[in-house]
Amino acid sequence: MNTTGIHFIDELALAEKTVFIRCDFNVPLDSDGNITDDTRIQAALPTIKRAIDGGAKVILASHLGRPKGKFNEKYSMLPVGERLRELLGYEIIIPEDVMDSHVDFLLENLDPKKQIILLENLRFNPGEKKNDPEFAARLASLANVYVNDAFGTAHRAHASTYGMVKHFDQKTKVRVGGYLIKRELEQLGQLLDRPERPFIAVMGGAKVSDKLSVLLSLVDRVQGLVIGGAMAYTFLKAKGVEVGASRVEDDLLDDAQAILRRATQSKVEVHLPVDHVIVENFDDEKGITTPDEAIPEGMMALDIGPKTQLLYANVLTDAQTVFWNGPMGVFERDAFAAGTFAVAQAIALSDAKSIVGGGDSASAIQKAGLKEEITHVSTGGGASLEFVEGRKLPGVEALRAHHEFDLG
Ligand code: AMP
Repeated sequence: MNTTGIHFIDELALAEKTVFIRCDFNVPLDSDGNITDDTRIQAALPTIKRAIDGGAKVILASHLGRPKGKFNEKYSMLPVGERLRELLGYEIIIPEDVMDSHVDFLLENLDPKKQIILLENLRFNPGEKKNDPEFAARLASLANVYVNDAFGTAHRAHASTYGMVKHFDQKTKVRVGGYLIKRELEQLGQLLDRPERPFIAVMGGAKVSDKLSVLLSLVDRVQGLVIGGAMAYTFLKAKGVEVGASRVEDDLLDDAQAILRRATQSKVEVHLPVDHVIVENFDDEKGITTPDEAIPEGMMALDIGPKTQLLYANVLTDAQTVFWNGPMGVFERDAFAAGTFAVAQAIALSDAKSIVGGGDSASAIQKAGLKEEITHVSTGGGASLEFVEGRKLPGVEALRAHHEFDLG
């Protein structure tokens, strides 16, 4: 990853400054509004602490869920504020509407040693997703340092990740990346920049369509492609294997064939399941294991079978670099989670530099207690895929600073 022109928060003196930190507080909540996993809040702490310890006034901002441009209590930042208060011991002030001039008053009178402002869910304002210039300008007016630490939304050109950033283009009004984004760029960047071979990509999940472009990009760069999850059945069908009633994207059979052809041309091995755990109905509680790759008529595969687990583990043993995105089966249900956990275990056991794209694979790693064994678990699902594909992320590109920097 070319980080030329990107400065990071550790390069700045922050005393007397007002720092706007775009965080990723898009945490999962239960039906009572309790945070079920605070990993993303914990992950933001180093950057927040750097700002408060540096003596800055701090404004935190994030989106949470999909409130569709209007206030919805269900997606309020209140639980995030409460958790931040517990973790930092600071009073967390949450103004209702950032457009209200009351926020300027709060900011003016903020005690940087005791208080932090946390803006309400940015997506309560329709201007956030639309990248509305007025909304972006208002956000930018609040601070003289902009920090982006929300890698998970770096692939979106929204007001808080993109539009407001261009306002920080003066010696005394600057834009930088936070610690989290810095680590993501360093770690994921190594996958683009001559990764150690063999480089094996493990791709799973629901749809080929979501991952088509990353598959096309990876097939020329890896030495092996391991495919699982529902995606595998489109590939197996493209090869003429019976897949029964398994989930298949018929309109992508040609694309799957094209990927397989390109892999053959590039001498890249594509590993597909050789056995499966199948059910008659999606809701069946238990599955049965097939003896080989064929799936009987009317049956659907919900996980890779034990032979495939071994095969995939073997492929991963020799890897020097691994990128994993997407579960091998319906891992949310215990009866179909074995394949995903076997792959997680194999990646953890290998000596490879291992990078796990966010989302389901990250939660499988977490659930299996294997996080410590993985080189880097990305906080961004979609963002990490786009990055690995080699696409430029608007939130990262916007950080490149061409102006003179007063770092002191
Ligand atoms: P993705 O968001 O694309 O990574 O897909 C994750 C989803 O794919 C999970 O909710 C899994 O339950 C689902 N999934 C994985 N394997 C299968 C399968 N064989 N059949 C149906 N759904 C699957």
